[in-house]
Amino acid sequence: MSMFDQYRFSAALLALTLALAVGTASAQTASKLKIATTTTDLASLAQAVGGDRVEVNAIARGYQDPHFVEAKPSFILKLAKADLLVVVGRELEIGWLPPLIQQSRNARIQVGADGYLDASLTAKILEIPTGQITRAMGDVHPSGNPHYWLDPGNGRHAAKAIADKLSRMAPADAAYFAARYADFDKRLGEAEKRWDALMAPYKGLKVVTYHRSWANFTDRFGLDVIGYVEPRPGIPPSPRHTLDLIAEIKRQNVKILLVEPYFDLKTPQSIGRETGAKVLVMLPSVGGEKEITDYIKLFDYDLGLLVAAIKETGAK
Ligand SMILES: [Zn+2]
Repeated sequence: MSMFDQYRFSAALLALTLALAVGTASAQTASKLKIATTTTDLASLAQAVGGDRVEVNAIARGYQDPHFVEAKPSFILKLAKADLLVVVGRELEIGWLPPLIQQSRNARIQVGADGYLDASLTAKILEIPTGQITRAMGDVHPSGNPHYWLDPGNGRHAAKAIADKLSRMAPADAAYFAARYADFDKRLGEAEKRWDALMAPYKGLKVVTYHRSWANFTDRFGLDVIGYVEPRPGIPPSPRHTLDLIAEIKRQNVKILLVEPYFDLKTPQSIGRETGAKVLVMLPSVGGEKEITDYIKLFDYDLGLLVAAIKETGAK
């Protein structure tokens, strides 16, 4: 064989090898279950239990207000291809998701279909209204507090629900999903011990939050929310309400005001100036900051910020 022939032979071999590799890769992609989730938190949980048998796509970004996501055509494409759609539920996505599901024309993921999973069904839901609350009043939490994923216990329930669903969809991989869930459960349990130890000195610490995003978080970690910048969930601050809140913060000597990254800081900062409370931007979702790459890191990040602020302000 001449040098040239040898080269041609190697090139042909390389091309064949690449073709085989690409073929194998696309065969693997084809066999993976395609999961769409409305939020990055659910995507992280789905990835944790689904491992390499799933391909996961979140719709909202971690720094966006999950109540108000601007619909894009790319979202419809994600939904059109999905075998499974996992939603937060409790009307969190009601302002933007229903038309996207409809336009996807994907029968598998329509509400009530086998490929539609409402993660709130197995979650501990707080603030379920007892009286008549409708969205007509502007309240965006008419079915209870939808920010339940900020209790790691609820993350565990959601991961289990996703693992069970995947096992029913791909019974041959049921043992794999069960093992992945068991591993996640163990890692989350270890993290919870760490978080409980970190937060133990601060039980009963009083805070104010902008939106009612932190009900499950504060319930889980023993904090006491004494007021909100929003008069009602989804209703922007009013001067009257802000004055009342300032008085209450002073009266109860609250040192920390938690704000989600997607709210205007003007009112929180003026409250901070009036009262001396520290305005702390905490991230409610995975991907809200670059280092928050998964569900467990979300709590590491937020609790780290919170404890640093508590120490800095001498809140406790
Ligand atoms: Zn909300």
